[in-house]
Amino acid sequence: MIREVTNWKIGEWIDFHIFRPDEKKGYIIYISGRPDFRMTASEKEEKVNQSKKVPVCIGHDRQSQNKKYWLYKDRLYWEIDNLEPQDMKLLLDERIEKRNRKLEKLKLTDTASENEIKREAISDEVKMYVWKRDGGGCVECGSKINLEFDHIIPVSMGGSNTARNIQLLCEECNRKKGGNLV
Ligand SMILES: [Zn+2]
Repeated sequence: MIREVTNWKIGEWIDFHIFRPDEKKGYIIYISGRPDFRMTASEKEEKVNQSKKVPVCIGHDRQSQNKKYWLYKDRLYWEIDNLEPQDMKLLLDERIEKRNRKLEKLKLTDTASENEIKREAISDEVKMYVWKRDGGGCVECGSKINLEFDHIIPVSMGGSNTARNIQLLCEECNRKKGGNLV
């Protein structure tokens, strides 16, 4: 079992009881506001740098010795299976990959719904204007049945909902146009 720790931060600390002056100032990882792992400045630098490439174990939980904390790519995790760094890397890479795919999917859905909003937003005013301008018939064949308001430049290619970009087309001519665009 691996879990990501969401509430954590690295803070600075100063310990006046340590006599080596270069180690007086250090860093500490807080988990849920509780100070947990202390590191000297050089340890912190080494661990953070290393954790950009491989998971780095930073220590065990105080309460449960088999709970290990790992730093990897600016995120903190814990596990209880006593894993090796290479196992952690495989598992975390898979996890990151999955999350990225999910984010990509969400982004695509967002764009789709934005387009949906734009498409819905042809105002009555514009429709009325286009209807009159195009003489209440298809601008291609003059048909007066099954008319549709067509985006000359499709919304998906950045076309707007202004009258200049909207025309009347019958269903048949609109399908033909769609086919040509593809
Ligand atoms: Zn037509």
